[in-house]
Amino acid sequence: MSQIRNFEISDEIFGGYMLELEISNFNSKQDICNIIINSLKNILISSGLTTLAGEVDRKKFHIHDITMEDIRTGYENQKFWVCGFCKNENEF
Ligand SMILES: [Zn+2]
Repeated sequence: MSQIRNFEISDEIFGGYMLELEISNFNSKQDICNIIINSLKNILISSGLTTLAGEVDRKKFHIHDITMEDIRTGYENQKFWVCGFCKNENEF
């Protein structure tokens, strides 16, 4: 059974970037974030926006407040936020 979930970045620079992912092969929220980060960087680099791609690396994108299990047991196409705002790692 496929498990499609929608992810959208919440961030002052990259907010609005959306990606639909089939999550059944992901083991952690960090795995999901890494795919989204790489996808965003690839788009920026392929468009010649290398400075912005470097900005992506300075962010600590994360999914806070919810667990991987919450994402797994969510509904088809449910949206989850990938946050770039929190500065304190203890917040996520
Ligand atoms: Zn956050």
